Amino acid sequence: MVTENIFRTPTEVERAEMKLVGNKDLAYHFRKKNIAKEQEYTEKHEPYCFRCAKVDFEKAVSDTMREKQLNTNEDLEIDTDKFYKVDLEKYGDIKRFKLIRTQPVKEDKLMDGIRNSVLTGYSISYQCVERGCNICVFVPLDVYEERNKPAKDKTSK
Ligand SMILES: [Zn+2]
Repeated sequence: MVTENIFRTPTEVERAEMKLVGNKDLAYHFRKKNIAKEQEYTEKHEPYCFRCAKVDFEKAVSDTMREKQLNTNEDLEIDTDKFYKVDLEKYGDIKRFKLIRTQPVKEDKLMDGIRNSVLTGYSISYQCVERGCNICVFVPLDVYEERNKPAKDKTSK
């Protein structure tokens, strides 16, 4: 009896085979998209799970290749488009993250010849609930304050 775990990293042989169907291009394009999306979230000072996006992509490629190996229909076409249709926004969904801790970030600044330690923002650590990936986001002070503004008093006009 053969037990197989399809959710594993592909072997070297499989990697070689993947390349034959243009996986290299596929991975390259996906990586570019993933990096761009991560950058987008970094600019918003919000967490994004680059790792899960990558792992899910690799899993999808691996499963597709397995199907190609098992399927005797020689004309089987691999629909590579479906990999491009993955909505990466889900890897930035805030519900995906558990807040671990918030730490102040201080920088030494020279003011009137005196060195001062100035608070510049906060470093927020999150853990991705899906695979426990650790993500750290720097939030500048102004952004942090804006986010944590007390809600307007309902009685005041
Ligand atoms: Zn993750």
